[in-house]
Amino acid sequence: MQHPDLFGELPPGESAAAAPLKPPPSIPERSPAEQAAELRTSLHRYAHAYYTLDAPEVPDAEYDRLFRELQALEAAHPELLTADSPTQRVGGAVLDAFAQVTHRVPMLSIRTETDTEASGAEAFDTRIRKELGLTEADPAVAYVGELKFDGLAMSLRYEGGLLMQAATRGDGETGEEVTANIRTIGQIPLRLPPDAPDVLEVRGEVYMRRDDFEALNERQRQRIAAGTKGEKTFVNPRNAAAGAVRQLDSGIAAERPLSFFAYGLGDITPANEGGPAWATHHDLLMQLKAWGFPVAEQTACVQGATGLVAFHQRMATERDALPYDIDGVVYKVNDLTLQQQLGFVTREPRWAVAHKYPAQEEMTTVQAIDVQVGRTGKLTPVAKLFPVFVGGVTVTNATLHNELEARRKDVRVGDTVIVRRAGDVIPEVVSVVLDRRPPDAPQFTMMSHCPVCGSLAEREEGEADHRCTGGLFCSAQRKQAVWHFAHRRAMDVDGLGDKLVDQLVDSGQVNTLADLYHLKLENLASMDRMAEKSAVNLLDALEKSKQATLARFVFALGIRHVGEATAKELARHFGQLDAIMVASEDALLQVADVGPIVAHSIRTFFDQAHNREVVQALRDAGVTWAEGDALAPTEMPLAGLTVVLTGTLQSMGRDEAKDKLEALGAKVAGSVSKKTSYVVAGTEAGSKLDKAQSLGVPVLDDAGLAVLLNGEKP
Ligand code: NAD
Repeated sequence: MQHPDLFGELPPGESAAAAPLKPPPSIPERSPAEQAAELRTSLHRYAHAYYTLDAPEVPDAEYDRLFRELQALEAAHPELLTADSPTQRVGGAVLDAFAQVTHRVPMLSIRTETDTEASGAEAFDTRIRKELGLTEADPAVAYVGELKFDGLAMSLRYEGGLLMQAATRGDGETGEEVTANIRTIGQIPLRLPPDAPDVLEVRGEVYMRRDDFEALNERQRQRIAAGTKGEKTFVNPRNAAAGAVRQLDSGIAAERPLSFFAYGLGDITPANEGGPAWATHHDLLMQLKAWGFPVAEQTACVQGATGLVAFHQRMATERDALPYDIDGVVYKVNDLTLQQQLGFVTREPRWAVAHKYPAQEEMTTVQAIDVQVGRTGKLTPVAKLFPVFVGGVTVTNATLHNELEARRKDVRVGDTVIVRRAGDVIPEVVSVVLDRRPPDAPQFTMMSHCPVCGSLAEREEGEADHRCTGGLFCSAQRKQAVWHFAHRRAMDVDGLGDKLVDQLVDSGQVNTLADLYHLKLENLASMDRMAEKSAVNLLDALEKSKQATLARFVFALGIRHVGEATAKELARHFGQLDAIMVASEDALLQVADVGPIVAHSIRTFFDQAHNREVVQALRDAGVTWAEGDALAPTEMPLAGLTVVLTGTLQSMGRDEAKDKLEALGAKVAGSVSKKTSYVVAGTEAGSKLDKAQSLGVPVLDDAGLAVLLNGEKP
């Protein structure tokens, strides 16, 4: 369970938009020529790191900002435009290590629309209509909406139906020959069906799925830990994919699973004999699909600006659920004759645009590294960030997990860092922008004493985390312990939020868990922002919570390593609290799911006099539960059954059904497998129901559940 502070986000409505998100720049006045030269130098350097070394130094959002700044300067002062300006070129230099390939049809970039609102799509449609000389009376333009995959562009050349050559985009004119590595991608056909043209160049994106990326980085970390030389972890899936493609040893490339989507065409023969075989871009994509190339299923034909806006919005909601990264969508004019009519500008076609989503990676500075103390004393270093808007929220904190992790990333106070927040994932520091590190920035070291209570902080052998040894003497641990005790799935004390817990502990009203049950109306009424009605409700909730179950009570004690499921197993196995409190480690090991670490932790907890005193004080305060005899799990009516609950049940909530099934000895699991005995499916059941049906697992409705809860097998 994570303390909300660690999530590092301001609540909705408390966006830091009112405050400046970047530290004010202290740049002295410079001439436009100086500014342009400086921007070109930075952009060249970042493009080299990104395209050629596959090791970006700054997030894309920062690169794009500088790029737009240079574009604006060049537009205002055309005399400053140079032929080698990054605004005039595609991609980066090719590496000498690879054979060079001259593209017969250049591989261009795409204009980026950085206005992430609906107006970005409307602006593109307006431009296209203007270029085509359409008036309001003319019908809507037909477009294809595609995903903008975050990988690297690839040209696949087939001759006589066989894959002969794969080349990167390089600088757009000349790319690198990477055929051996591309052959390792199972999704790319090596041979085409007989109806394919004699020469066909398919253009598309090589990318790495997020799960493949995580697994690769985990492997890399293990190799680094084992002392293998020359290994590194990758910053993001794009960077890992680019590294794998441009790998000189195709054995290594084969270990790094890549995927591919086709989105266009390069060279083709016969090109014009008998005219093109397809009239629209969408027909072309469907033809590529028929020849065996993966085409994203989200690809859609849409009409006019409203169609584009709807596509952009729909993909924004699907984005986080995709198994790979996208940084926007791409719109293309569907009619190929119109595409030809629109033609190209320097480095991009006029008939396409990339419409971005808000960045998931941004740059900010580390103001401090605080150490927070968790419920079990775990000390967590947290980077306090200059507020930055990323992934749709304002982020002010990012957890650094522990000292080893903070050292591995080498995050220091004063550093400029790249912060990532994607979906609902907790924000993280991806990397440090080393060339912006202030001189003398000290390396982070974990303090030797708890920052809250001053007790010794220790790291046990083989563990990554430091812990405060103060136990409930430490007010930070006390707060977390009270917060955990009151949790919905523990003692379920409604209305005891973390702000109130802070006040109760800080004011000395609550020193131990049992103090909660001695609170009086006048104690509560004196707390900040506490109306009398809320105070009365809280006292009622506390009174109600005294009627507990043994499993909830054991979970609520907050014993390290004892989660809800283990607490239930302990209650079921021993039946009585006193039996758990005196059980030897050997006896504890007989309980399902309890291994040596958990058994040791339970024994240590109850060996400490102050913990036994807390239990007694809670009993004295009136907390009770029904006790039973120790019951061997095999004697229970549903012992041995594994049940999965999905959808909305009519007869009761899923939590209630889970509790009741478990009380009868069934195991309630979160996912369906061949070992599942039953799936109980309510309305709007989704993929779990499909899986049950495909595996032939029996599916029950509410009536079937009632039979189970009667202790019978339907
Ligand atoms: P781009 O990547 O934004 O757009 C063109 C590319 O989009 C194509 O080459 C193709 O590979 C890809 N693409 C993905 N889906 C596509 C689809 N459905 N149809 C067509 N193409 C599709 O442009 P670019 O010129 O390669 O580079 C600009 C991008 O690279 C920017 O996002 C920029 O932020 C980033 N960049 C970052 C750094 C850095 O330091 N972080 C440096 C240089 C460039």
